Amino acid sequence: LVVAHDVHKRFGHLEVLRGIDLEVRAGEVVVLLGPSGSGKSTFLRCINHLEQIDAGSIHVGGRLIGYRRSGSRVHHLRPREVTRQRRDIGMVFQHFNLFPHLTVLSNVMEAPVGVLRTPKAEARETALALLERVGLSDKASAYPRQLSGGQQQRVAIARALAMRPELMLFDEPTSALDPELVGEVLATMRDLARDGLTMLVVTHEIGFAKEVADRVVFMDGGRVLESGTPREVLDHPTHERTRAFLGRFL
Ligand code: ATP
Ligand code: MG
Repeated sequence: LVVAHDVHKRFGHLEVLRGIDLEVRAGEVVVLLGPSGSGKSTFLRCINHLEQIDAGSIHVGGRLIGYRRSGSRVHHLRPREVTRQRRDIGMVFQHFNLFPHLTVLSNVMEAPVGVLRTPKAEARETALALLERVGLSDKASAYPRQLSGGQQQRVAIARALAMRPELMLFDEPTSALDPELVGEVLATMRDLARDGLTMLVVTHEIGFAKEVADRVVFMDGGRVLESGTPREVLDHPTHERTRAFLGRFL
């Protein structure tokens, strides 16, 4: 579903992505690990074109992200077309950024109604089903500030799912949470994985990676250093850098 080929990205003189090759097949859960500054967030942001890549290509669902080829030339997509591509890619960040003045239910209904023009009754029904899926049926009429961080993050996940994305990107979804709230968010993500959602997840939760990931990719210095099953990468890493990184979590 995602095919990234030789992706390069620089910020001024800083070369942040130095030729990333990565694939995520439909229904797969891929966990992306790596030290701070290795380019994980930048790479996720490139996938939904929040950052423009300098070289290489990213396809999602067979569509070239951000650009259009005509003959040998490559053109930027128009903003409307970029927005259209982003609709099918859900993203959940460390900080959930719910709309504070809207109820939980309205937060989840907002994009389907506002962007997809889904009739309100239908959007409401879908939103309630999604809230049930993330275990928050009883919070539909609460406001974000009345929820715990873990609950807010689960609302953020429901909100992203409301657009029926073909792919979900998670960028350290639990790292801003108090330790006792991490488990409930990971449990929600594990359920989504079991339901067959295609997910690319940046996380330092090694336990989650072991249990849920189909593949683990270790990034360092803007490159993919190793990639394989959780057993291969987490239990039998071949690179010294991977071992050193994983050593911090033992
Ligand atoms: P972390 O684990 O700390 O979240 P990361 O792997 O997600 O790290 P990135 O956020 O992708 O790393 O950043 C990679 C490098 O790119 C860092 O050196 C960062 O300072 C730099 N960087 C990221 N965004 C920008 C930007 N908009 N402008 C300039 N430099 C940037
Ligand atoms: Mg990051």
